[in-house]
Amino acid sequence: MSRHDWHDAAACASVDPEVFFPERGLPVRPALQVCMGCPVRRQCAEHAIPNETHGVWGGLSEKERKALRRTARAELDAA
Ligand code: SF4
Repeated sequence: MSRHDWHDAAACASVDPEVFFPERGLPVRPALQVCMGCPVRRQCAEHAIPNETHGVWGGLSEKERKALRRTARAELDAA
């Protein structure tokens, strides 16, 4: 699978993109529910954790990805 082939199998391909980029204060749960059934969730998350700061990607919210980046940086700093 090349770098972006996973996009072709994305469960969100037929979903309104606004679901994945809700305005502040609106729930992310509808997007997360789509992600939970997505066959390329892992590839999406691996791309999104270091690269995407907005929206829901890979079954992870902005806050969850930010926390993962922070943890990874802390572990690298401690190494
Ligand atoms: S994991 Fe979620 S955001 Fe990523 S491709 Fe699948 S449905 Fe789309």
